[in-house]
Amino acid sequence: MKKIELYKSSLELLGKFIRNRSFNKLTIVFPKDSDLSLSKASERLSELIDECILRNIDVVVENIPYCFLVGYKRYIKEVKNDEKVKPKKCKECKYYEKCSGLWKSYIEKYGEGEISPITGKYLITDNERCMIEILLKVGKATTKQILELKNSPEFKDICAHCVESDDVMLTGKKLMEKGVVLRSFGPEGYIWSLNKEHFLVKKVQSWIG
Ligand code: SF4
Repeated sequence: MKKIELYKSSLELLGKFIRNRSFNKLTIVFPKDSDLSLSKASERLSELIDECILRNIDVVVENIPYCFLVGYKRYIKEVKNDEKVKPKKCKECKYYEKCSGLWKSYIEKYGEGEISPITGKYLITDNERCMIEILLKVGKATTKQILELKNSPEFKDICAHCVESDDVMLTGKKLMEKGVVLRSFGPEGYIWSLNKEHFLVKKVQSWIG
């Protein structure tokens, strides 16, 4: 059984340890003084958990809330601690009762921006992410331009199914309902742009760096 605390240096090494399969059980702990942000850590962690599953290693993650590892809830072990807090926005999360929260010192350092309560409205599909990434790159675009860009090598692996303008319109409409995109009308039809202050836009921006 191996216990690893997550820092920039250990995150690099973790993949190697897992590939060498030098243990059967692994506990990954996010410590109070980690030099990583939870977004950065969890981005890589989901791949590492997948590798553990593949190599039949029992893996458990501590001190990382569910909203940072959506889809990996069963690998998270809740550890209560008086130094952890749950910000006010967490009250709308369906895991509010079960979740032990985040280190208070972490919130003081990074703020609450990365936290996305699990309610459904903060989740995005591949197509929605694709549209956000395109608009982050080009600023604004018509429906036709988005359709062309999603077929370009840069975005084709993100887009799941948009094949015609109706698909882009539907994705845009869902993002509008979430307050993520704005729509105006121009000579070539709808023009889409981003609400850059929206939490999901900031989140996708942090994923792509
Ligand atoms: S939103 Fe709050 S309560 Fe929900 S999983 Fe994240 S930290 Fe926990």
